[in-house]
Amino acid sequence: MMYLCPVCGYPKLIAPPADYMICPSCGTEFGYDDFATSYEELRNEWLSRGALWFSRNTPKPEGWSPMSQLGQAGLLPSRLEAPTESTI
Ligand SMILES: [Zn+2]
Repeated sequence: MMYLCPVCGYPKLIAPPADYMICPSCGTEFGYDDFATSYEELRNEWLSRGALWFSRNTPKPEGWSPMSQLGQAGLLPSRLEAPTESTI
């Protein structure tokens, strides 16, 4: 049984998005990051950080694209904001 990440649409979570499960795609820690923040806000934050693959342990699927993943899950934001470049 695979579960869908409600933040980034990653379809292969090995456990339900709860109980400190961390999505390898967007890095959301469920039960913690989503405690006071909506999935939509978490998604927008992930997108504004460049929608990078999060996990170092779970390899990125071949040909992985955050936008097509979101699209397939029906989670593409209706209004895409330009990613904000953070200067470090
Ligand atoms: Zn995710």
